[in-house]
Amino acid sequence: MKYDRNRNEDFLTLVHTGDEYDKYLHAVVPPVFLNSLHVYDSIEAYHGADMFSDDDFIYGRVSNPTVHILERKIAELEHGSRALAFASGMAAFSSAIMATCQTGSHVICMKDVYMPVKRMFDAVFGPKLHMTLSFVTGNDLKEIEDAVQENTDLMILESPASFTFRVVDLKAIARLAHEKGFKTYMDNTCLTPIFQKPLDLGIDISMHTMSKYIGGHSDIIGGVLVSKDEELMRTIMTQSREFFGGILGPMEAWLAIRGLRTLDVRMQRFCETGTAVAGYLEKHEKVKQVHYTGLASHPQADIIARQQKGHSSLLSFELDTKDPEAAVAFVNRLRLFGKGCSWGGHESLASLPFYKETESALSLIQGNRGLIRIYCGLEGCDNLMADLDQSFKHL
Ligand SMILES: *Cc1c(COP(=O)(O)O)cnc(C)c1O
Repeated sequence: MKYDRNRNEDFLTLVHTGDEYDKYLHAVVPPVFLNSLHVYDSIEAYHGADMFSDDDFIYGRVSNPTVHILERKIAELEHGSRALAFASGMAAFSSAIMATCQTGSHVICMKDVYMPVKRMFDAVFGPKLHMTLSFVTGNDLKEIEDAVQENTDLMILESPASFTFRVVDLKAIARLAHEKGFKTYMDNTCLTPIFQKPLDLGIDISMHTMSKYIGGHSDIIGGVLVSKDEELMRTIMTQSREFFGGILGPMEAWLAIRGLRTLDVRMQRFCETGTAVAGYLEKHEKVKQVHYTGLASHPQADIIARQQKGHSSLLSFELDTKDPEAAVAFVNRLRLFGKGCSWGGHESLASLPFYKETESALSLIQGNRGLIRIYCGLEGCDNLMADLDQSFKHL
């Protein structure tokens, strides 16, 4: 798939969906609705309000007009029928689990998904709801088929995975899931809908953590679920979100809408910078291996070419030494890259995601403690490469 900067179907959604000038006193930007409730002229009108429509609102824990504008944009971008925004990515994830699984459900999970997802099974879904989990690499349909049990309700996917940058064939997995009767949940945070649309490949639920590229300025926490399955989304809205109460705040929604207006331009720049920095690292004599979906040397380049339109500015690499302390020293000497865990904002970051992991977590993902993950922000790729260069000189 090819990204075409001049003919992007997403432009009008990013820039204009939700701009209903006559509804908002001709304000060029829709307001933040900070009200907790909406009042009606009569009891009949109040009870007649339809919380699934674009115009009726009752109470802020159920829905909010600013949050709804964001949800309409995300639904359009992902080609879903409806999106629902939550107070964090994990709130969105746990709501998706509650809507698709039940006590005793079996879930198939890719080994290298976001780590708190796996920890939540160990801490909550396993002990409290007697749910079981089977890990797969996701690379082999036979492996997934073998993992399916009578009570398999869901498969959790992340492609590319945000530490190892392995990908899976989303279309093939979605087809298998529909055949076998379980749903698929996919974390699409890394590529955003600009570069990948999992629902079009048959995935049931796509999730975005909005503190990353969508927010884009390291100033909000939020998550969103989107699906083509209207019934499923109504269930999530009226059960998971309304009762657990994890709706996104209106101010955060307003900031996410603001982030979306420039998402396409930022993603183009992130893709260029990520590709340049990955190429620089791959050629460096002190680097053993670079993990990045935009490299021709990626072992799954064929799948990537089929399902991705572009690449993020997030990548990981291994130094040509087995000593994790060398990686720590390398990262500590970087000046432009802050040492921190998140990504997707304006500022570059570096971390050692597996440095403190347990042996069993490491063996599950075949990761090593010295793996360095960098997020390239908007400081410009020459500046970032110069910073990496000065730290390499000390190695
Ligand atoms: C940050 C992140 C999450 C978690 O999102 P929160 O908003 O912190 O709950 C989930 N998946 C990926 C890929 C992430 O990077």
